[in-house]
Amino acid sequence: MTALCNDLTTLSRINSDFISRDRQMLIGGAWVDSSAGATFAVRDPSSGKELTRVQKASVQDVDAAVVAARKALEGKAWGEARPAERERLLLRLADLLEKHADDIAELESLDNGKPISQATGLDVPLSVNFVRYMAGFATKIHGRTFDVSVPYAPDTRFFAYTRREPVGVVGAIIPWNMPLLMAVWKLAPALAAGCTVILKPASDTPLTALRIGELVLEAGFPEGVVNVITGAGCEIGDAMVSHPGIDKIAFTGSTSVGKAIARSGVDTMKRISLELGGKSPVIVLDDADLAATIPGIILGIFANCGQVCSAGSRLYVQRGIYDCLMAALGEAAKSIKVGPGLDPATQMGPMVSAGQQRSVQAYIEAGVAEGAELVVGGGQLASEGFYVSPTIFANTDHSMSIVREEIFGPVLAVQCFDDEAEAVKLANDTPYGLASSIYSTNVNRIQRLTPAIKAGTVWVNCHNIFDAALPFGGYKESGIGREMGEEAVGLYSEIKSVCMAVG
Ligand code: NAD
Repeated sequence: MTALCNDLTTLSRINSDFISRDRQMLIGGAWVDSSAGATFAVRDPSSGKELTRVQKASVQDVDAAVVAARKALEGKAWGEARPAERERLLLRLADLLEKHADDIAELESLDNGKPISQATGLDVPLSVNFVRYMAGFATKIHGRTFDVSVPYAPDTRFFAYTRREPVGVVGAIIPWNMPLLMAVWKLAPALAAGCTVILKPASDTPLTALRIGELVLEAGFPEGVVNVITGAGCEIGDAMVSHPGIDKIAFTGSTSVGKAIARSGVDTMKRISLELGGKSPVIVLDDADLAATIPGIILGIFANCGQVCSAGSRLYVQRGIYDCLMAALGEAAKSIKVGPGLDPATQMGPMVSAGQQRSVQAYIEAGVAEGAELVVGGGQLASEGFYVSPTIFANTDHSMSIVREEIFGPVLAVQCFDDEAEAVKLANDTPYGLASSIYSTNVNRIQRLTPAIKAGTVWVNCHNIFDAALPFGGYKESGIGREMGEEAVGLYSEIKSVCMAVG
């Protein structure tokens, strides 16, 4: 086994400087230490070595962030800011993200392990586009008017309408797989709607959220509108969910934590939106164009090392093309260049952490023990760092844990089907319902399958294609609510009905 570590001597000056000292948290417009005086390590996934340290927030720090966020919500500078001012600030933030795109992509790759090509080509531009798209909504939030009948007041005329108002202080809790994108998916619609935000990144990947904090200040947002606190989910995440001063929790993460948040949030009747896990099916019909299908399947499962909630991790192939497709897929998986994130040639980086690497390896061992056929991969790749090789299992079935459970790693489980009805039955045989894809050249077959699949997204002849305008979220246990698109703004506003008696 060889070492596949990032070369940190090539880091940009801004990023070398960023990691050269312990990072503080942003509360009320100031950079502060944890009140408990504790910090924790952030590690480079390519080597496992410590990159820098960040503050380990305490429950008192959550309280301080809530006070700051509420003060900003109720203060003149933000609470009375006109929609056009919120739009202007968000556009400024998007411009700053774009201006620093290369440095931010490098920091994201360093922190998460993802290939720099992906951070540069996908994470950062998607984030910039999304902030710009949401900025426009700040000036387009509106209510409706109603001609009401009120049967018990026949002699009175009424003017009735609705207003959309900010939901209040938002606690945004995000995962480690796409830290920058997940941060802006919450921040931008919340700020467009006029809310204030306490952002808590995942402990494994806090760096770009802290960098966003710097850019938020540079953009000129009033103090306390955006606060960034770092720490353990089971400590400060839980304190946020149960905090009476937080009006809404916007959460992206695992289904198990999402369920715990929903239960705990009920006590204070928090508004809660949940973007959770998935086990997304990919259906390949026997008329599919294989030249386009193979890259789609590969991107669907191996992009971001499989650490994507919508990863196409269950592949169902119609029997007639099974052998041909499997041969091509195996070759394509073997040709993926695995390496450290900062190497421009890397196509797949390490897993985010030693814990995630262990968890994925355990699933691979379970797949072998349960009788699946290991076609490609299955091993660890480097002596240092958290690498797992691209892995494909054939001859799987729904009794196996690798088919039933979300692995969140580069592991594809494949099986055959005979007809469309069987494909739909297999695709829907899961508690999840986040995403799916269909590969076919026959529009009639595509249109028969699309409504039959119980998932928030159906991609056709592609997978993992996202756009700011397209709502994204889950059916079933994959979540509640839709992020992106116009729907996202609705997650951060309350509807107030106004009924005025007029003479
Ligand atoms: P996780 O649930 O372990 O952690 C997510 C966040 O929740 C982290 O910030 C963590 O610190 C915090 N947290 C942990 N315990 C908490 C608690 N008790 N109370 C409050 N907060 C707590 O998830 P993860 O391992 O970071 O991310 C992977 C998961 O996220 C996968 O299941 C994946 O499918 C899901 N995900 C979903 C989407 C989506 O849009 N649906 C996107 C990305 C990731």
